[in-house]
Amino acid sequence: MSLDSILVSLLNRDMEQIFREIVNDYNDKVPGMTIESLNKMFKISDVKRIGESKLTDSFEKPKEKISDTCRCMARIWGSTPPVAYYCHKKSKYIYGERCTRPKKGNGDYCGLHIKNIPHGRFGELPPHEHFEKYLVTPDS
Ligand SMILES: [Zn+2]
Repeated sequence: MSLDSILVSLLNRDMEQIFREIVNDYNDKVPGMTIESLNKMFKISDVKRIGESKLTDSFEKPKEKISDTCRCMARIWGSTPPVAYYCHKKSKYIYGERCTRPKKGNGDYCGLHIKNIPHGRFGELPPHEHFEKYLVTPDS
């Protein structure tokens, strides 16, 4: 379902509520006016967006990606709640996300993580148990 079709259905639902009130209040002044006739005249079939919203920007233009070999190896917390599950295919726990910044120089980490990796290295177990409470099993 697209955002547009959700908007159209919500708008039409609101319109019908308005038609109901118009018919209730004015049907004695406008003969033949019914919810159906108003619906026929004013029903919304499409929406047109003027300008681009931030939402469509992020949908349509994904950020330029740094290749995995050039990418910092640090684990980041990422979203809240963070990614935390057991991957049966790889037989290991997946916690957090990988930093999206490029590696600095010949090191494995970006300029920020070269100094400190609070959540450890991506692909290895984190140095703390802060992810544990978010652990979910996708299979169950
Ligand atoms: Zn990093």
